[in-house]
Amino acid sequence: MKKWLYGIILLLLLGYGIVLLQQEGAVERKGVLLYTDETLPQVPDNKQKSLTIDREEMYRGDLVLVNLQYPVHESAKPSHVINLFENQRLLSGFGVLDNSIEMPMDMLQRFVDMGESAKADGVNQFLITSGYRNDESQAALYEQYGSEYANPPGHSEHNLGLSIDIGSSLGLMKDAPEGKWLENNAWQHGFVLRYPEDKRDITGIQYEPWHFRYVGIPHSAIMMDRGFVLEEYLTFLKKRSRVQAEYNGKLYTVSYYPFHENEKLSVPIDGSYSLSGNNMDGVIVTTMKSINAFPVKPATIK
Ligand SMILES: [Zn+2]
Repeated sequence: MKKWLYGIILLLLLGYGIVLLQQEGAVERKGVLLYTDETLPQVPDNKQKSLTIDREEMYRGDLVLVNLQYPVHESAKPSHVINLFENQRLLSGFGVLDNSIEMPMDMLQRFVDMGESAKADGVNQFLITSGYRNDESQAALYEQYGSEYANPPGHSEHNLGLSIDIGSSLGLMKDAPEGKWLENNAWQHGFVLRYPEDKRDITGIQYEPWHFRYVGIPHSAIMMDRGFVLEEYLTFLKKRSRVQAEYNGKLYTVSYYPFHENEKLSVPIDGSYSLSGNNMDGVIVTTMKSINAFPVKPATIK
């Protein structure tokens, strides 16, 4: 065979190999494209600013882990909550179990936005059964239900104001269309099913098909994509230091920075950003850019 023919076959094989490598590198499921380090898109480096972060930031934000080991920090508690029963006009027709339920206004707005999206799919019998709990109401619940279903005061996500217990007037959430809809779609609204049935050994809490925690986009999308609960996601971020994900036309860069003893942190910021502590040992900085602002190369997967 002629040498040039060998040459062409070799080039074709190389090209095929590169396509395969790209496909293995970037993983896309459910509309989320998660990049590995090898396939990070080349984002033009705008003039980077730096942000100085105080240690207090470690304890607050949408990603803080709260469980038996890591209590709610005083600064993480919501500064203002509203009573849902007294503000039913804000509930968009959704039910509320009793007149004691409270939550921060931004959480109510997030719930209503998600509920409107479910309504469009014909699912609308939602009933809010719990929102923000202060220490007294958490203590009463702990007393009533015990440690399998409730954490002691100061150790519940409800003390953060970032979790909502959502029921259905049609029956148990594990069977009701409302439960199924949330399990499949809540992530698109920044919420995650916090205590899934198959993660009891990691969360330490029984399956709670009604308990949804707000973590925000893109975190809920990455967690759904990878099948992570919050404990696993925070470990993943710590291990990787930096993760990039493309979702809904935006490129998110999620970076973890550990705090060292008695030290403030200075981190680079590029574009718009959000900040959250992990309530353990560091902070997570999430920056966001519109994909249209630059050409993204490796998004090759169909
Ligand atoms: Zn709950």
